[in-house]
Amino acid sequence: MRAMVLERASRALVEQRIPVPEPGPNELLLKVRCTGVCRTDLHILDGELPSPRLPLVMGHQIVGTVVSQGGLVEGFAEGQRVGVPWLGWACGDCRLCRMGRENLCERAEFTGYQRNGGYAEYAVVSPQFALPLPGSYADLQAAPLLCAGLIGYRALAMAGDAQRIGLYGFGSAAHLIAQVARYQGREVYAFTRPGNEAQLIFARSMGVDWAGPSDMPPPVTLDAALVFAPNGNLVPRALAAVVPGGSVICAGIHMSEIPAFPYELLWGERTLRSVANLTRRDGVEFMELVPRVPVHSEVTAYALHELPRALEDLRASRLSGAAVVRL
Ligand SMILES: [Zn+2]
Ligand SMILES: [Zn+2]
Repeated sequence: MRAMVLERASRALVEQRIPVPEPGPNELLLKVRCTGVCRTDLHILDGELPSPRLPLVMGHQIVGTVVSQGGLVEGFAEGQRVGVPWLGWACGDCRLCRMGRENLCERAEFTGYQRNGGYAEYAVVSPQFALPLPGSYADLQAAPLLCAGLIGYRALAMAGDAQRIGLYGFGSAAHLIAQVARYQGREVYAFTRPGNEAQLIFARSMGVDWAGPSDMPPPVTLDAALVFAPNGNLVPRALAAVVPGGSVICAGIHMSEIPAFPYELLWGERTLRSVANLTRRDGVEFMELVPRVPVHSEVTAYALHELPRALEDLRASRLSGAAVVRL
């Protein structure tokens, strides 16, 4: 099969022909239809995450159809469409799994990081982590729901009943979650990369209550801020923008260093926290919610060999919404 492989020695992304993987007794073999590109892929590529399995097929927002299944798998039919997120496997047995926090499982394996992912024609996945996708969504539109949407949804849930929500970084996750927040009756304040006029126009087109560059304070005090951009400088700015008792939630897996800031920014019972990974329950809840909103995903499609260009477009914020690789 064709695959984009992150090579061990060169750490470069190279298109290769590799064998179609064989599903084990409790695994599914999927034919990949498309895979959403995520900023986490850039962090893996740049060596900012500590333990990728190399050589590696990245890609953790997989939309695929079941081709075959191991002998122990039940409940799937050939041709059935499923979505595979970042959490590819959890043990179910460690202290955190038993607490219902499988997103923090000590032995978790992540798709396109420790297990081969979706930038290939086929992928082997765990059936327990193959999520149902809303039938009304085309493949390309469904892919960004699987990480950008899901992690964004988990971050939004951490904001509790906050009415005025700030979104720092208006890319794949923010454009989906802005729609969910508006549907829930919240006000949305979008912060875009300074100087990126296209991103500002895109944010305004998504029906947010206000949009402005991230070096500008919002017109009102926020109840919560979700930080999607991987820029640690945004954290003190977001803390300064939230009300006493408000929260700042960092939703990315990696961020540049957060600069020192005066304690008064945290004082007043403000909360600063991160959101890590997802649980299957998040996935099921979110996939039920999206058609009700309905969430529209804005997508730019790339061919498999164009993955490096998709990643560089994402790095430079040259695209509106989400990048998706079509197989
Ligand atoms: Zn992701
Ligand atoms: Zn576990």
